[in-house]
Amino acid sequence: MFFNKVLRASVQTGIRLQSTSAKVAANAPHTSLGFSFELSDQQKEFQELARKFAREEIVPAAAAYDRSGEYPIPIIKRAWELGLINSHIPQDCGGMGLSIFDACLITEELAYGCTGIQTAIEANSLGQMPVIIAGNEAQKMKYLGRMTEEPLMCAYCVTEPGAGSDVAGVKTRAVKTGDEYVVNGQKMWITNGGKANWYFLLARSDPDPKCSANKAFTGFILDADTPGIQIGRKEMNMGQRCSDTRGITFEDVRIPKENVLIGEGAGFKIAMGAFDKTRPPVAAGATGLAQRALDEASNYAMERKTFGKHIAEHQAVSFLLAEMAMKVELARMAYQRSAWEVDEGRRNTYYASIAKAFAGDIANQVASDAVQVFGGNGYNSEYPVEKLMRDAKIYQIYEGTAQIQRMIIAREHLGKYRK
Ligand SMILES: Cc1cc2nc3c(=O)[nH]c(=O)nc-3n(C[C@H](O)[C@H](O)[C@H](O)COP(=O)(O)OP(=O)(O)OC[C@H]3O[C@@H](n4cnc5c(N)ncnc54)[C@H](O)[C@@H]3O)c2cc1C
Repeated sequence: MFFNKVLRASVQTGIRLQSTSAKVAANAPHTSLGFSFELSDQQKEFQELARKFAREEIVPAAAAYDRSGEYPIPIIKRAWELGLINSHIPQDCGGMGLSIFDACLITEELAYGCTGIQTAIEANSLGQMPVIIAGNEAQKMKYLGRMTEEPLMCAYCVTEPGAGSDVAGVKTRAVKTGDEYVVNGQKMWITNGGKANWYFLLARSDPDPKCSANKAFTGFILDADTPGIQIGRKEMNMGQRCSDTRGITFEDVRIPKENVLIGEGAGFKIAMGAFDKTRPPVAAGATGLAQRALDEASNYAMERKTFGKHIAEHQAVSFLLAEMAMKVELARMAYQRSAWEVDEGRRNTYYASIAKAFAGDIANQVASDAVQVFGGNGYNSEYPVEKLMRDAKIYQIYEGTAQIQRMIIAREHLGKYRK
């Protein structure tokens, strides 16, 4: 049923998936023999579908969503119809079961259109990932399955006003009472917080301050309509303004024990483990933004004239564009490597942090350089690069800051030298 929707929608946009079964073909293993930069036909089809959708339906709408801050429901619904959202939900839950690599190709294209919209979409992957990696069959069918039936959103509820980088500082408490857990606490900066149908929630279940993080926290799936959940106001952020970011308060919220992931005390590892699969797509999003900035700057440099020639003909500008191109190409290779590693079943923490840190940094550099190429026009919201510069900043903050990524890379790197 889901495939039919995708195929139908693909045909409507003028793109045909050639395979008779997208599900089967989409899950064909990547080549893991030798070395190749060539995408499979199937990957090219998904990339092309996402590219066409982003350029025809997201790009024209992005500035208006940025100005209004309105949540992009029509675009999300359309992306869902096309199979460009939730693409990694396993086939036995009704999804397409795409690899992280394939999902990253789609994410880069959507981000090219607007990273506010891409973040709203990507937050679904972040919310779902703990269930994908740690949910039992019943939990997966119930919570992932429903997302293939209708365009629902979910959210990853970990950060609190007093605990972001230091996840072990989470104070939200879960107390077991009979067959339920009673949760009290407050979360902050939750993407899709006001739009989610359900949450992945991390809470402290062992009050002993000496208990290690690996045993002190429990991960829950929580229906958003459970009594006691109070959703805060939509936060007005620097960029990605149509994405929905909120604080959420939990007051005596009762969660049935069936909604515990794996078991009491397993939450910290689940919450952190999800990042190995979600940081490559975040890096892909940053790369998509950087590619957009490079394209905008290059086109502008070929049209704008000073001193009797196009500014692209001034060596200082052309070298700036060359530096931007180098960064975009390397960020793409970094996210693809990190996605490929995890798809091959290997621990990719090192590569995921390199990709996330590098792509997040270069998105900021390249967007700022694009503003420079545009001169005064770049500083004005009538031109697209001002938005890109504001949107880029979050890639150095969410899903682990630029500093936290460096801590992880250093730990993984130095671990190789420890005798
Ligand atoms: C728009 C937006 C969307 C978000 N979406 C979500 C979401 O969906 N779900 C969710 O759970 N969270 C979400 N977050 C939260 C985000 O992950 C955190 O903001 C981020 O992890 C940083 O935490 P913090 O804000 O508490 O900063 P802090 O942890 O207070 O860090 C402040 C500064 O100190 C640095 N720092 C901290 N510790 C160290 C250290 N040990 N060494 C060196 N430097 C350090 C940081 O790098 C940073 O520069 C979102 C945030 C934003 C702004």
